[in-house]
Amino acid sequence: MLPLLLDQPFEKWKLGQVPQYRLEQLRHWIFDQGCCEWKDMSNLPKSLREELSKEWDILPMELLRVQGSADTTRKFLWKLRDGHLIESVLIPATEGTRGIRSSRMTLCVSTQVGCAIGCKFCASGLDGLKRNLSTGEIVGQILLARNQAKRRIDNLVFMGMGEPLANLPALLPALDQILSPKGLGIGARHLTLSTSGLAPKIIELAKYPAQIRLAISLHGGDDETRQKIMPINQKFPLEQLLQACEKFIQERKKMITLEYILIEGVNDDLTQAELLVAHAKRLRAKINLIPYNRVDGLEWKRPSVEKIRAFHRKVEQGKPARVTLRMEKGHDIDAACGQLRLRESKNSNIS
Ligand code: SAH
Ligand code: SF4
Repeated sequence: MLPLLLDQPFEKWKLGQVPQYRLEQLRHWIFDQGCCEWKDMSNLPKSLREELSKEWDILPMELLRVQGSADTTRKFLWKLRDGHLIESVLIPATEGTRGIRSSRMTLCVSTQVGCAIGCKFCASGLDGLKRNLSTGEIVGQILLARNQAKRRIDNLVFMGMGEPLANLPALLPALDQILSPKGLGIGARHLTLSTSGLAPKIIELAKYPAQIRLAISLHGGDDETRQKIMPINQKFPLEQLLQACEKFIQERKKMITLEYILIEGVNDDLTQAELLVAHAKRLRAKINLIPYNRVDGLEWKRPSVEKIRAFHRKVEQGKPARVTLRMEKGHDIDAACGQLRLRESKNSNIS
């Protein structure tokens, strides 16, 4: 397999004797036009394109399947060059108050093929980790999804398949390309990394210079509850995780979000709501409640609407900085991470 051009930051492209202005044309084709095929780059001499195409691949993946329609949540299943499958989810949202409405496009990005963390409720980790994604495969999802969306992507959430903080060596250079005005030009405030709680890596991430947002998958108010569904809690128990968050906040002066999926009979009693609020207040963090999305073959269920509302109300009564209840978009198209790939690989034995 040829090396992937997008794995190298464009500032460092060294393609033999190719002059700088040609490299700039190449950058323009890829990042501004979303063109990932040598043959379409019409203002580069044919001989140069032929020469470069023998040394470098540009296209990191092919679109294998799309679920959903253009005006709703759309899920893309990509086939990487080595045959592995990953997914990204495009989520349109209409926002605005007092009649001023704007539509925003959010992309949920994967960072690994599979996941080694093994949260018991999650489809992504069922088969363990296959491999990390490379920088170009992370950036490629955004470039290619933008082509499909036919418009700019406003927000990125690293909440697809994989644990972003377990792949920092590929992810940080990808963030550089995403943030750069000459790359994808998406502002740091519009980027959210979600982690299952790799405490030392949270502290490492705090040193990254841009003001990206951090979300923590808490899912339990005490060690006992969290441990039932998240084996990572054994390695980094709650107190260690909360202290890492405090360090991050201190360093970045930035609010974080505590994500809390609600699973029937596991973490949905009101004592957990109280503990969740206490942690959020300690960190001055926002809370995002997410009713669980069922996964084929797993026993976990979403609580009843009444139970969800009661939990939400209890959290609100504790007056944390902010609470949102995210009634999952795209529930009907398996939008939760890893689910489309799971189905596809079951059908065709690819992973
Ligand atoms: N590995 C990272 C990011 C990817 S998962 C993390 O765990 O934070 C993104 C979010 O989706 C996490 O909060 C995760 O707990 C949640 N999630 C996973 N499976 C889910 C499901 N079936 N229903 C609802 N949320 C789910
Ligand atoms: Fe991995 Fe996140 Fe799924 Fe846990 S929830 S298995 S960390 S992708």
